[in-house]
Order: sequence, then structure tokens, then C-alpha cells
Amino acid sequence: MTAAEPDIDAFTRPYWDAAAEGHLLLRRCRACARPHHYPREFCPYCWSEDVHWVRASGRATLYTWSVVHRNDLPPFGDRVPYVAAVVDLAEGPRMMTEIVDCEEAVLRIGMPLTATFRREGEGPAVPVFRTVQLSGATQS
Ligand SMILES: [Zn+2]
Repeated sequence: MTAAEPDIDAFTRPYWDAAAEGHLLLRRCRACARPHHYPREFCPYCWSEDVHWVRASGRATLYTWSVVHRNDLPPFGDRVPYVAAVVDLAEGPRMMTEIVDCEEAVLRIGMPLTATFRREGEGPAVPVFRTVQLSGATQS
């Protein structure tokens, strides 16, 4: 274990199990119908405990980002520079994450992103995002 690995307990286990299979999960409230992230055991909007897991589309847009050039916490020290980002998921929740496989120069606020998962050694698959490759000239 390193300091940067997520805590996995009985509550968050479904989230990490889904991540291992390449799916991002959100928590959605049956009382007010709003999804949220990160996962909580009750709805942060109406406090209902009638909250269940739903699979997210993995689509998001870039809200803001920061290139991190120094981080002494393992494993980040081996990874710098990296792009720490906040993204708006298509379902609504805002999520802190990392942008991978992307030059900083191409990053734009509002650009479309898609979820991918980083696997390192024995650790859990961690959801990160990459830019959407627009193929062809037919984007609308
Ligand atoms: Zn609610």
C-alpha cells in the first residue's frame, strides 16, 4: 500500500470492482434523482439514504486543470509532470481526476473527454480521462 492508494471498504467495493472492468460508477438518489460523485452513503443534496449505484457513460468535459511538476507523495513523484484536472461528467457531477495521454498544449476548457482506467501493479484500476479523438471532419 502507498499513501496514494484509495481506501476500499465494503461500501466502495462495487465502485472499484466496476473500475477493474472498465466502468465508472456514480451514486444516484431515488428520492431527488440527482447523481453524485464521489460515492457517498446518502444523497448530498437531499440527505436521502435511498441511493444506488448507476453506471456512468464515461463522457465528460474539461472544467479546469493544472500541470503538476512536483509531488513528493508516492507514486506521484515518478509520474511528474502530470495533468491534475476537474471534469464535469455528462451526468452532472464534477470529479477530480487526471488527464492522461495528452499534451498540455491541446487542453481546452470544455473539451470532450472520455474515461479510461489506469492500472499499476497490484493497485486498483483508477479512473482517469483522456481527450476524445475526433475522427473525420463530420463533427457537428
Ligand atoms: Zn437526493
